[in-house]
Amino acid sequence: MREENCIFCKIANGEIPSRTIYEDEEFRVILDLNPATKGHALILPKNHYKNLYELSDETAQKILPLAKKMGMLITQRLGCEGLNLLQNNNEIAGQTIFHFHVHLIPRYQNDHQNLIMNPLELSSAELDAVRDELLQ
Ligand code: AMP
Ligand code: ZN
Repeated sequence: MREENCIFCKIANGEIPSRTIYEDEEFRVILDLNPATKGHALILPKNHYKNLYELSDETAQKILPLAKKMGMLITQRLGCEGLNLLQNNNEIAGQTIFHFHVHLIPRYQNDHQNLIMNPLELSSAELDAVRDELLQ
């Protein structure tokens, strides 16, 4: 399941070289070419899914165990103090490559990254209204 002209399909399947730190039948984990911090890595499924909305459940259930394994390895080897998992879907959310991927971003003291959100100030009624829109 590959998409013509998708750079991450080509990288994940080895047609374009990458700095691979892990590979199995379904995934390749590579170093990001423009890392946010030292050790910034990307988990790429070898099959093409545009984003989370399109990701198969079968692939989805393997992502978090792999993120945990890679996160542990990166932490042990590089000595980061923590890490952020980031996964962007669609342009509005900052996705620039439309092949599903998960960022592993190691965090260090004074790494000059700021992945903190700006919280909204919602009233209790407004929070209740949002919950009611989503409740199943
Ligand atoms: P996103 O904004 O979530 O779509 O993330 C795309 C990420 O892919 C960015 O962090 C880029 O630096 C990274 N990237 C783009 N091209 C390559 C490449 N050829 N090899 C490795 N990482 C790349
Ligand atoms: Zn692809």
